[in-house]
Amino acid sequence: MCGSAAGLASGLVGPTGPARARIGDVSDHPARFWEPRGGTDLQCRLCPRGCRVKAGERGFCGSRENVGGKHVVRVYGKPCVAFVDPVEKDPFFHFLPASKTLAVGTASCNLDCRYCQSYQFAQARPEETDNKDLPPERLVAEAKRLGLKLITFTYSEPTQAIEYVIDTAALAKEHGIRTTVHTAAYIEPQPLLEMCRDLAAVNIDLKAMSDEFYRTVTGGQLAPVLEAIKAIRKLGVWLELTNLVIPGHNDSPAMVKKMARWIRDNVGAETPLHLSMFFPTYKMLSVPHTPKETLRELRKVAYDEGLRYVYVGNVPGDPAESTYCPKCHAKVIKRIGYSQTRNTGLDVKNGRCAFCGLKIPGVWR
Ligand code: SF4
Repeated sequence: MCGSAAGLASGLVGPTGPARARIGDVSDHPARFWEPRGGTDLQCRLCPRGCRVKAGERGFCGSRENVGGKHVVRVYGKPCVAFVDPVEKDPFFHFLPASKTLAVGTASCNLDCRYCQSYQFAQARPEETDNKDLPPERLVAEAKRLGLKLITFTYSEPTQAIEYVIDTAALAKEHGIRTTVHTAAYIEPQPLLEMCRDLAAVNIDLKAMSDEFYRTVTGGQLAPVLEAIKAIRKLGVWLELTNLVIPGHNDSPAMVKKMARWIRDNVGAETPLHLSMFFPTYKMLSVPHTPKETLRELRKVAYDEGLRYVYVGNVPGDPAESTYCPKCHAKVIKRIGYSQTRNTGLDVKNGRCAFCGLKIPGVWR
């Protein structure tokens, strides 16, 4: 995820016992989505990089390793972050508002965003982080112990732990717990399909509407991400999008106009879009944070292009954090930051505005 990993001071899950963190505690779980390439070489088919990996080596992401001709994932059941978070933090604004989720993240990522807001985990190798031992059974049990109905894979890149996500989501479903992810969606179509099978909601970082931005700032490409967004919409999994607005890089009105138009025409004007404030970090320490005025201006651009739910993020207390009915303009959900969410006019029984009856899209109960 490209959202902020700040504010992690409380809520750590499982500080003692079997879930206690240990540096270098990695898994040797069989990886999926790869094929042999002669001798002990193999080719990973998880993401568009398609790394060809020799025995004893790893691909770009560092989360999986060729062990004697078999691909092994090093982050299965080994999250290096685990917190109880408000669902708004991911952000999900049209999905079970004011709920709490058990949010976990593993080391590594298949992108190298120069502005990575979670670089301590996402840009680290699994051996370099304090990893908990929380395989799916234990993670689901921990959610139940905490009285939570949600598990979220976030903080770094969930697709790097796709086997862990798939197994957890299936098991959690059996226990009446829903699983969500926040991802950059730089992934091949088949793994995406399998990952989404038991997911309840996905938030995707649409980092810019520019392949050049993807190539020069993130090390990826735009086209596979757009395909993933369309695929998730077709699958019917609840979808929200996040764009971290970086001054001088992806903050032009023309860029956001193009993005809003693509969203409207390909996945629907009712798809929530979060325009989030950037803070200088990692390899972009000299870039200033996003001015609030820029976010407000871009929000208007997206509305003018037809989108119906556009939010600003990382600006606690801004009116644009709240949900407004597009028809009568009543405030139906009021938010202040991540942790203060109040229903001010949404009939959750039928998902309609309590003032004019308009259907507000989302998963409300
Ligand atoms: S998931 Fe990792 S190893 Fe596989 S293709 Fe992508 S970067 Fe390479």
